[in-house]
Amino acid sequence: MAGRSGSIAIGIDLGTTYSCVGVWRNNRVEIIPNDQGNRTTSSYVAFKETERLVGDAAKNEATRNPTNTVFDAKRLIGRRFSDPCVQSDKKLWPFKVIEGSGDRPNIVVDYQGEEKQFSAEEISSMILTKMKEVAEAFLGCIVKDVVVTVPAYFNDAQRQATKDAGVIAGLNVMRIMDEPTAAAVAYGFDTNEVNSPVKKNVLIFDLGGGTFDVSLLSISNGLIEVKATAGDTHLGGEDFDNHMLNHFVEEFRKKQRKDISSNPKALRRLKTACEQAKRILSTTTQTVVNLDCLYEGIDFYSGITRARFEELNANLFEKCIEIVTRCHEDAGIDKDNIDVVVLVGGSTRIPKVQQLLKDYFSGKELCKSIHPDEAVAYGAAVHAANLSGQDCEEIRNLVLIDVTPLSLGISLLGGSTSVIIPKNTPVPTEKSRVYSTTIDFQSAFSFKVYEGERVRCEDNNLLGHFRLPGIHPARRGETKMKVTFKIDSDGILHISAEEPVSGRKNEITLINRKGRLSKEEIDRMLCEAEMYRMEDLQLKKKFLAKNSLEEYAYGLRNLVEEDHVITKAPSEYVKYIAEAVDETIEWLMHDVPMDASEYDARKKELVEMSSTLSKMSL
Ligand code: ADP
Ligand code: MG
Repeated sequence: MAGRSGSIAIGIDLGTTYSCVGVWRNNRVEIIPNDQGNRTTSSYVAFKETERLVGDAAKNEATRNPTNTVFDAKRLIGRRFSDPCVQSDKKLWPFKVIEGSGDRPNIVVDYQGEEKQFSAEEISSMILTKMKEVAEAFLGCIVKDVVVTVPAYFNDAQRQATKDAGVIAGLNVMRIMDEPTAAAVAYGFDTNEVNSPVKKNVLIFDLGGGTFDVSLLSISNGLIEVKATAGDTHLGGEDFDNHMLNHFVEEFRKKQRKDISSNPKALRRLKTACEQAKRILSTTTQTVVNLDCLYEGIDFYSGITRARFEELNANLFEKCIEIVTRCHEDAGIDKDNIDVVVLVGGSTRIPKVQQLLKDYFSGKELCKSIHPDEAVAYGAAVHAANLSGQDCEEIRNLVLIDVTPLSLGISLLGGSTSVIIPKNTPVPTEKSRVYSTTIDFQSAFSFKVYEGERVRCEDNNLLGHFRLPGIHPARRGETKMKVTFKIDSDGILHISAEEPVSGRKNEITLINRKGRLSKEEIDRMLCEAEMYRMEDLQLKKKFLAKNSLEEYAYGLRNLVEEDHVITKAPSEYVKYIAEAVDETIEWLMHDVPMDASEYDARKKELVEMSSTLSKMSL
């Protein structure tokens, strides 16, 4: 879907830990700062007694209110509850995740004194809405059209779910874009190599908070073509933090004979301290973690060296390099033929990661010229401008070619996988294969759809069940069916099947798309998102009214204590006002009215008293 001409389209990097938004304006990309002045925004949502916070303010709640502060929604999105990754993550999260309908994970929180459940799509939609508002405040206009990025390694369900999150946020998601491709676009535009006739092979190494992505792309003459992609949706800064956290939990257990792991508040405080220590270790070789009253009144004080940190995470760092190898081998490009290695993602600041990568490429200098935290949003903003038809030559001429990260196929008799679209096929793409019946007078074709590289289909990831009923009955092998897989520019899979022998075009029936939200569910969530937005607005109005009354009351209290008032105005009236003010201040401290108008009404009373008083004390 193209952006409506005239409207501004933005690019959003919806990160696991941080999100970032950019826009193409005045012939360049601008990364948009949020209300705190930060150019990236924490991907956090906090639910409180009286309000809901999104972004940096929500992250600040994490230590105080860990069970109701939600993060890492990207690690849940598009996954099933029974997914082993969800099961293992669940143990580390301070918030509760339960099994919802259709094996979907639901996040449980206390909000306004009630237990509420949210899907990962809803949490992500709240973050997308926040980023949209950040952009709107900056641009001074309504924004609808967006490009949202996802890791290249995201599967069909995860892409679909991310798109749904956009819909719930009331956005028109023009395109789901792969993060490394976005980073490559940023690199190409930043260096102006995108328009050079000399072809360059660029390796994007994106190590963020929760995911790791590697892509090998070629850039020349306005064409950015992905050659191969590899990664791990479960490898990043948070894992490094958790390894350090486990190390300290163990140390505490040894020193104090106490286990803090069942105390979410203590764990969260320690984890936040670990992340800070990790960041410091990127520039110095040792640091300390110092937390007063961490657990049962016991202080925690300990040091950690860079060497120890590297040792704790050595296997994960090695894994990164293995994935790099897999990526360029898949592309059939020797590592010596890689011209540039671009670092993206906050975790590429870790010196050991840089060193291992540099060694792997025989001492080649790594490219750090583009901002690791902003590159993805930068590329998404360029793509958004391109799709919305911005009138700028270099944008107009840009052509992006992505590839499928995983092979897609169907199950055959005997349990093997028949691949229809092999991995690293350029998208959009459409491929068909013909299958025949396996029993006499078979009346329907049924098969399962898988993604993955394993031979046995059950080792791959099941995407869904498909059924084509009412086929031409004949002896086994005689009736043939053509199955077509089509991947659109968002990387989303569409499946159709027909049986050419009888000439009838039967439609495929999707029996089960596990892990996806239905149209009704999305509609309901849309309504709820609107409701929360109104609630937030209402709250904001209430806080403003309260503030205004409070200020006025204190101002008036000072006034009735001033000499010229005391000497000129009748003492009874002064006393009467002073009492009214005290009563108001008392009321402000204890009561929370339903509506802003109660504050306004009380303020009006005080204003009237004050004006009578000033007439008296003239
Ligand atoms: P994502 O895109 O997955 O949200 P980012 O690319 O924004 O992630 O990277 C966030 C991660 O980078 C966090 O885990 C953060 O702790 C880590 N990080 C940021 N700065 C540093 C640093 N100086 N040293 C080590 N890690 C860092
Ligand atoms: Mg990222």
